[in-house]
Amino acid sequence: MKIGTPKEIEAGENRVAMTPDSARQLQKLGHDCLIETGAGTRAGFADADYAAAGVEVVDSADALWSGADIIAKVRIPTPDELDHLSADKTLITFFNPGGNQDGLDKAKAKGANVIAMEAVPRISRAQKMDALSSMANIAGYRAVIEAGNNFGRFFTGQVTAAGKVPPAKVLVVGAGVAGLAAIGTSTSLGAITYAFDVRPEVAEQVESMGAEFVYLDFEEEQQDGSASGGYASVSSPEFREAQLAKFRELAPEVDIVITTALIPNREAPKLWLDDMVKAMKPGSVIIDLAAERGGNVEGTVKDEKVVTENGVTIVGYTDFPSRMATQSSTLYATNIRHMMTDLTPEKDGKVNHDMDDDVIRGATVTYQGEITFPPPPPKVQ
Ligand code: NAD
Repeated sequence: MKIGTPKEIEAGENRVAMTPDSARQLQKLGHDCLIETGAGTRAGFADADYAAAGVEVVDSADALWSGADIIAKVRIPTPDELDHLSADKTLITFFNPGGNQDGLDKAKAKGANVIAMEAVPRISRAQKMDALSSMANIAGYRAVIEAGNNFGRFFTGQVTAAGKVPPAKVLVVGAGVAGLAAIGTSTSLGAITYAFDVRPEVAEQVESMGAEFVYLDFEEEQQDGSASGGYASVSSPEFREAQLAKFRELAPEVDIVITTALIPNREAPKLWLDDMVKAMKPGSVIIDLAAERGGNVEGTVKDEKVVTENGVTIVGYTDFPSRMATQSSTLYATNIRHMMTDLTPEKDGKVNHDMDDDVIRGATVTYQGEITFPPPPPKVQ
């Protein structure tokens, strides 16, 4: 089969779904690879690098979409991109199947198969294809770097001839994949790092990374997210009040706040309120990684950086993975390559789109003229 990757057309998107390395691996599965000219440039991969890896460089999006049987890309496809699909093509991409009915309808009408990378089941066997996690890991790391870039002091404490410098204090709210990456980066830079999550089971992980888990003064146990498959659910009003009271206590103390709190299929919970922003010291920095879903912080402006009257910088960028396009493209292309490995079990260049395979079934959102999202619940073992 021919696997092709077009240039991303979304403004500001620097990532690419195929790298010269991933193309080499795809060829070992018996596939031929195509790339649209310039598709990798913003991620640091030149056409010549692809050509040297045995990839055919084609000179237009039309040539790419018509020449490839399988198209791998990053961003949710536009209607024009979907127009290129047909019954003999498979598209592998982020697709937002839960919020993209038009896209599902169009892919169905075209008879094409679509594999949505965010729909890959989050089970151990599928971790190598889990693009949500690989991108969240980068976002968490980059959030700390961005915070440092906007913060006028060191992270680590120092005693120097020119004076004693206290370590920065960082609070990470939400210790999922992005939060844990932020915690690891923050502690490795030497900041005193605190973390909070509604799921108490992450406390051990937080502490093993050298951060301090923030416990609440609350009669009930902190919520147990394991009941909802490891994800958080909406907090009770009492729990929320206890959480906000703790944050009010911490606000004047911390220099940097990184928020990552999300609840599946909902707007992000507002957790860092206006009065907390006002209570922070001038020069403090907030990075709101939940900005895409409405933000955890009052005052976040999506895709912008604002400085409040009291001198607190609030960053609401939603493109952190794209800001590290070489790294994120490398990991994303590897996620895609693993998906292709599962789709090519005989390594003979022939795709077996096995709808009895839980991972492939879970990620497939349209198949042979049908919408197959949402998938059936996992089989009880
Ligand atoms: P997420 O992006 O949905 O949410 C981020 C974090 O915010 C979560 O830890 C959540 O508990 C927390 N949160 C929600 N409301 C909050 C609040 N009010 N205050 C503070 N924190 C709040 O999470 P994620 O990174 O996608 O991870 C979710 C779960 O999935 C975790 O249990 C993770 O270990 C698991 N996971 C499993 C796999 C796998 O097995 N393949 C891969 C990735 C993640």
